[in-house]
Amino acid sequence: MPPGPQGRDFGFYILREDMTVFHSLGFSRMGAQRELKFALEAYWAGKGDLATLLETGRELRRRHWALQAGADGARKAMVPVGDFAWYDHILEWTTLLGAVPARFGQPADEPVDLDTLFRMGRGRAPSGRPAAACEMTKWFDTNYHYIVPELTPGQTFRIARSDLFDQVAEAQSLGHVAKPVIPGPLTWLWLGKGDAFAQGPQDEGKLGLLDGLLPVYVQVLQRFAEQGVEWVQVDEPILALDLPPAWQAAFKRVYDELSGSGLRILLASYFGRITQNLGVLQGLPVQGVHVDLTRAPDQAREVAAALRGDQILSAGVIDGRNIWRTDLDERLALLEPLRERLGDRLWLAPSCSLLHVPVDLAAETQLDPELKSWLSFAAQKLEELRCLARLLDGDVDEATAAAVQAQRAALQSRRSSSRTHNEAVRRHLAESQGLSRSRAPFAERIARQRKELDLPDFPTTTIGSFPQTTEIRRLRRDWRQGALSDAAYEKQVRAEIEAAIRFQEEVGLDVLVHGEPERNDMVEYFGELLAGFAFTQNGWVQSYGSRCVKPPLIYGDVLRPAPMTVGWSSYAQSLTDKPVKGMLTGPVTLLQWSFVRDDQPRQDTCRQLALALREEVSDLESAGIRVIQIDEPAFREGLPLRRGDWQAYLDWAVDCFRLATSSVRDGTQIHTHMCYSEFNDIIEAIAAMDADVITIETSRSNMELLGAFEDFAYPNDIGPGVYDIHSPNLPEVDAMVALMRRAASRLPTERLWVNPDCGLKTRAWPETRGALEAMVRAARTLREAA
Ligand code: GLN
Ligand code: ZN
Repeated sequence: MPPGPQGRDFGFYILREDMTVFHSLGFSRMGAQRELKFALEAYWAGKGDLATLLETGRELRRRHWALQAGADGARKAMVPVGDFAWYDHILEWTTLLGAVPARFGQPADEPVDLDTLFRMGRGRAPSGRPAAACEMTKWFDTNYHYIVPELTPGQTFRIARSDLFDQVAEAQSLGHVAKPVIPGPLTWLWLGKGDAFAQGPQDEGKLGLLDGLLPVYVQVLQRFAEQGVEWVQVDEPILALDLPPAWQAAFKRVYDELSGSGLRILLASYFGRITQNLGVLQGLPVQGVHVDLTRAPDQAREVAAALRGDQILSAGVIDGRNIWRTDLDERLALLEPLRERLGDRLWLAPSCSLLHVPVDLAAETQLDPELKSWLSFAAQKLEELRCLARLLDGDVDEATAAAVQAQRAALQSRRSSSRTHNEAVRRHLAESQGLSRSRAPFAERIARQRKELDLPDFPTTTIGSFPQTTEIRRLRRDWRQGALSDAAYEKQVRAEIEAAIRFQEEVGLDVLVHGEPERNDMVEYFGELLAGFAFTQNGWVQSYGSRCVKPPLIYGDVLRPAPMTVGWSSYAQSLTDKPVKGMLTGPVTLLQWSFVRDDQPRQDTCRQLALALREEVSDLESAGIRVIQIDEPAFREGLPLRRGDWQAYLDWAVDCFRLATSSVRDGTQIHTHMCYSEFNDIIEAIAAMDADVITIETSRSNMELLGAFEDFAYPNDIGPGVYDIHSPNLPEVDAMVALMRRAASRLPTERLWVNPDCGLKTRAWPETRGALEAMVRAARTLREAA
């Protein structure tokens, strides 16, 4: 069918009058087998040429567009173009705008090439001078990381790359209706940083850049219009945040200016409710609004009521953030009144881009069939969307009827399965309400611990892992594949542990660790030992650049069938008189880095995890372990998007930590670890966790960030990281002494520990030895001076 609008005023040509429009907001770039990752890494390493990389990208787009078009008789969706990215979609946009920081040496009048994009993302590329990569940070409340735009006052913008326009043409040549997807100007600015804009995301100074930015947006839209584009999706996920008035007000100006292009604009929000910004929509010259009705289903009516009679509501009804099969009946019940009210102005879509879920469940051949029937990955979600459109239209063909039947059966099995409901766990959870979460006052505990553990001032320790050599990785792999017997595996892991203990004794550390040779990943290791978790073979999700993670699924009640770390830790302790720290991953981190069941509140799942860990903590203590660390690197990232929701989260997150840790006697020392140092706004909660010792990452910030602990008069012990383990240079004793003195100027000396930042597992042994020896010398210098 030829492109070009005909028939319906705001629909598009491929649909009959009576068919509900559905569309996708975006998709994975990696491919079901992580094809893009491998092509990128080969190209970066000089093992693959640019042409091969470009071809891989083209092939992936072709495949993913075909899926998203969801062709079904006369039904076919427009496809997103611009969600594809070689490294990150924000970086794509930043380079399109020509916003390349000076250190990358970009000539002002030349196009930005792909290698410059890669240098911005990762510091290096096959061509061009290496330079410090741009900062990377988390994309809203997801585990995806975007490259932060660097902003300067008076910055100029221009169209500096043509990839996006080429991709529009590419989609069209494949017979698709291309819907370009671009970051909205306000979201792009909000996410950007610069020395001149020190107030953080909301710095109003950034709005001054709109003068230069908007004309370039208009040019981009004009080029789309010349290409025959009808709809453009402009993503403004900041609508789900609390926006200061100046940012709210800016929407009107921005969209007034963008509306001149003649394109229809779908203003897309996702990840939460936008009703706090509803006033923003009033009088906004956009032709449609997309909202997330998975995270915030009850905003549907309010948003629908705020729309003008000619505006589209794109209803995000399929969960783009999780992997559970959609309850189509429940979604229909939500949609029917909307359909009644909006008629064909109602569109259907996933809640957000499908970037955040794995590509295809069909690739999973080893999942238990019952569990598998409960799941839906990106390809399945698109299928659900198509079904939903047919159901809503009362146009149920055989395939749709069969899909609905299968879905109902799966949901029924999920509701009643003994895999999801374990009475013993439920009872245990109910009883846990009455369990004490308190320990004796910190002053009493620490006095006792210092005596029992015989610790000096400025005690030294590390964060847990030691270098993961190729031999260790091979060992674990051989054992998993059955090439190595349990006994042989245990013997060799024990040998690794013994080597780690001897190493730490030689170096002269005070609190030792077993080194974590048995774990490849801090969540997977525990997930595999707990009931209620499952693992996929190919459930990859992009984390940043070419890096992907394979989050476990928490599908059922969590139970610890047997001790998980007690054998390794007590073996390590048996080798030395020094205290050895038990090493566990905390409940919030296990939750945060998994796909979590959606049939009960997250906090209930977190409490089940906490109870399982509480048992482990008790068993470690009984086995003679006197120091136990519970890592919570994901504690901060669990914060909800809106301030008003923070306290509720912090309350249960803290409660879970205390539930996991409070069974121990006063003399047993509880550590926690968090890999960052932005504590200002959560310091009260950190203190409420009441760990005896917290180790944090500080070396790169020169201890500035200890300010939060100082201002709050944080009462318990702190180990600020004294050297950056990522640096190839050995840390200098004097530098570490100076850092600790800075720390001691802000916090009581007797509360301080000396330790590196985390991540030793990524280093090699010789440098680890050199660095830790220097660190121990620094601690001794501090003690002597005290
Ligand atoms: N104990 C872990 C380690 O040292 C902590 C990892 C982390 O903080 N992300 O590797
Ligand atoms: Zn860490």
